[in-house]
Amino acid sequence: TRFDGHAIAPQTEAFLGQTHKLLIGGEWVEGSGEMETLDPATGLALTTFQTGGKAEVDKAVAAARKAFDGTWGRMTVAARTAILHKLARIMEENATLLTELDILDNGMPRFIAGLTTSNVVEMIDYYAGAIMRIEGTTIAPPRHIADETEALTYTLREPVGVAGQIVPWNVPLSTAILKMAPALAAGCTVVVKPSEMTPLSVLALGQMICDAGFPEGVVNIVNGLGADAGAALSEHPGVDKISFTGSTVTGKRIIAASMGNLKRVSLELGGKSPVMVMPDADLELAIPGVSMATFFLQGQNCMAGTRIFVHESIHDQLVEGLAGFANSMTLGHGLDMGSMQGPMISDAHSAKVMSYIEGAKAAGATLVAGGEKLDRPGNFIRPTIFTDCTPDMAVTREEIFGPVMAIQKVATTDLDELAALANDTPYGLSGSVWTKDLSTAHRLVKRIRSGHVSINCHGAVGTNIPFGGYGESGWGREFGNEGLDAYLETKAVTARL
Ligand code: NAD
Repeated sequence: TRFDGHAIAPQTEAFLGQTHKLLIGGEWVEGSGEMETLDPATGLALTTFQTGGKAEVDKAVAAARKAFDGTWGRMTVAARTAILHKLARIMEENATLLTELDILDNGMPRFIAGLTTSNVVEMIDYYAGAIMRIEGTTIAPPRHIADETEALTYTLREPVGVAGQIVPWNVPLSTAILKMAPALAAGCTVVVKPSEMTPLSVLALGQMICDAGFPEGVVNIVNGLGADAGAALSEHPGVDKISFTGSTVTGKRIIAASMGNLKRVSLELGGKSPVMVMPDADLELAIPGVSMATFFLQGQNCMAGTRIFVHESIHDQLVEGLAGFANSMTLGHGLDMGSMQGPMISDAHSAKVMSYIEGAKAAGATLVAGGEKLDRPGNFIRPTIFTDCTPDMAVTREEIFGPVMAIQKVATTDLDELAALANDTPYGLSGSVWTKDLSTAHRLVKRIRSGHVSINCHGAVGTNIPFGGYGESGWGREFGNEGLDAYLETKAVTARL
């Protein structure tokens, strides 16, 4: 049944009934195609939305350029700050709509969607506040100036220009805002391409952007397929910067596409993050913590800690605890208050996750929890745990992007040996260390090649904390000051006085 029988707010119902066009130059305009978006928990259609390709991307980039050279570029800092804060207030008023749209489109449980809605409001206020703190420097003038004492050198921080922003389906609103908020704060204008699987929350945001009074063309939204609208945006000569979150395979395509005009590129890509459980770990903390490191967001989470290394002295105890936790997790529609885990985003993705589960069984890993799909509509895969995994198995090496944990038992407590195990991956996005000994924890953290490591917790990211990857997990950082820097150029100026 529709939404598994759960009710939605009248505002959400009304939104689903609307026609969803493209936002270009401050107007909702017709696209050249149409797609359907599904509720992954039921497989039923939610609504249709219009899509665009190269022609629409061309128009959106032209509108963004016009706004960059005109209204937005000339707007005062105070006005830019005020309009972003106004957007945050409108989003707060419409929090239920935004939360329910991500639940319906993505399948995520309500406790996650609610959290991301409040986080994105915080993010907009944070970057609105950061605008007044964008600062250049003064520097000693160069020696070849006739009289250095009668000269001045300083730097200006200037917006990079028109930014193309390509968003994945796993945390749709949050990933869009963590690109848009710093870009707009920096003074850029943007063309956003949401995932074709989860267009709705960003479309609702588009209306809020219009209502907040952003000048036309500052924010443009072009839905469409990656190979179509996404590719057109990443190769567009009028785009100065591409910020992309998605798979490492697509990230490499974005780099190739960006070479034509050497646009700046930020990439937040995949991961296979290590979770190091030391012999003295507090298991009361580690059992739920390590479980959620893997199973949060049904494992469709770039930060997921899916490679667990546990010392042999506590292996059996930890595995028993993790299996108990996994078996106790309630799977269900995201609208259900009690649901801890939702469905996989699509049939195709679910089939991929199940093929890793079958592959791990065939390779000789020991299944201790889950391993199967629920017998109901939607693709609900039980939280799955394998132990006796070895470093060469696909379940250990490859990003599965589903609720699948691969445990390896280790005999060593040597930090260099443990770090070598943790770093045996092309990725380097996240990771965690579980121990009561903070000296051990910090020494191991320093050895792990990753952009973000947590101690006695996992994936502890936040608006003000830089986040990004080493290695094939990406280029650059989002969130915090570094997230803003990613949309700024530095201009050095020397004046003979
Ligand atoms: P994906 O790469 O298939 O798609 C991401 C976005 O890119 C979508 O909007 C898609 O339409 C677009 N796209 C696809 N092909 C394109 C092309 N040739 N040119 C331009 N755009 C194109 O990834 P996905 O399946 O949507 O997301 C899952 C992946 O994202 C996982 O690998 C995950 O680890 C990664 N991810 C990373 C982070 C992070 O911050 N590091 C966060 C979330 C997701």
